[in-house]
Amino acid sequence: MIFKLILFAIIGVVVYRFLGGKIPLINKERKENSSSDDFTKVAPTAQCEICGTYMTEDDAIIYHKKSYCSNECLEKAQKDR
Ligand SMILES: [Zn+2]
Repeated sequence: MIFKLILFAIIGVVVYRFLGGKIPLINKERKENSSSDDFTKVAPTAQCEICGTYMTEDDAIIYHKKSYCSNECLEKAQKDR
């Protein structure tokens, strides 16, 4: 009886590690990684140097390493100098 119980216990641990132990862990890690990837995929926002408007860097006008929301703000920045 004791030998059978030990055998079942070993089989149980092996089956748990082979099926139950691995698959949920891998799924969790992938989900966490994908969520962190989503954070990095979010478009970076830039703030206009003149009026403070937030926009994506795709929409921003980059001039001398500073971002502006429109040509008007860019012209204002150049007049101030
Ligand atoms: Zn602006």
